[in-house]
Amino acid sequence: MENNVKGKVVVITGASSGIGEAIAIRLAEQGAKVVLGARRQQRLDKLVERIKDAGGEAACLVMDVKQRDDLVRLVDLACKTYGCLDVMINNAGVSHLSRIDDLQLEEWEEMIDVNLKGTLYGMAAALPVFKKQAFGHIINILSTSGIKIVPLQGVYAGTKNAVRTIAEALRQESAGNYRVTGISPGFVNTELSDHIKDEVARVAIKERAAQIAISPDAIASAVAYAISQPDQVDVGDIVVRPTIQD
Ligand code: NDP
Repeated sequence: MENNVKGKVVVITGASSGIGEAIAIRLAEQGAKVVLGARRQQRLDKLVERIKDAGGEAACLVMDVKQRDDLVRLVDLACKTYGCLDVMINNAGVSHLSRIDDLQLEEWEEMIDVNLKGTLYGMAAALPVFKKQAFGHIINILSTSGIKIVPLQGVYAGTKNAVRTIAEALRQESAGNYRVTGISPGFVNTELSDHIKDEVARVAIKERAAQIAISPDAIASAVAYAISQPDQVDVGDIVVRPTIQD
């Protein structure tokens, strides 16, 4: 069946695992040309091979979203390999959970650098291309943590909500030239919580996730839905969480 995903050139950051990987597989299955970025080369190479073996088109670049130039290189790779950029998916993220008065400043800075500045760098790399083309679609992976504020997730939620706010301004400024979508996952079964350093927070999150987390495929479906809409339809905000989540 023809769809509005087929043939689109899509850049995905944080594509080496979890939600980014699931998005890459789903979009490639639907005929998108995916350009994947993350730091772990082996994981990216394996994913590109898997997509190509299944008849899809994919390229990858080892990159770090903390480095502004890396985002430019990723977008350049998409434009040079496939001729344009239709969709920029800012998915790379880290989540460190702790009480604010524990003052884990290095963790705060990492979340700001990856989740907020990394996303801004992604937008900054994509927008000049979108401007020239007079079309484009930014999709940011946010979080339900930004919707329902709870203890231990203050800074993480803050980074996601800062992105939401900035993206909404971009949507209004774009005067119909670009589509801007925010997707807020709830508990999803990925490696994200493995990196939480605060042991109490990590154990609590992992226990809850084991009970209720949904598959990253659910988020991939939401991304595919947003992209597949007719060009004049902008899907703004989607929340995808386990039915049982508070
Ligand atoms: P994963 O840990 O599986 O994926 C995170 C991805 O981000 C990895 O591919 C990682 O790749 C990449 N990444 C991290 N830091 C950098 C960096 N500096 N430069 C480039 N890539 C980086 O977790 P998820 O799939 O769950 O996370 C994806 C997104 O979904 C995140 O933005 C997260 O906040 C969000 N989210 C997840 C939820 C969940 O329950 N899992 C809930 C709500 C939102 P590598 O290490 O190879 O660089």
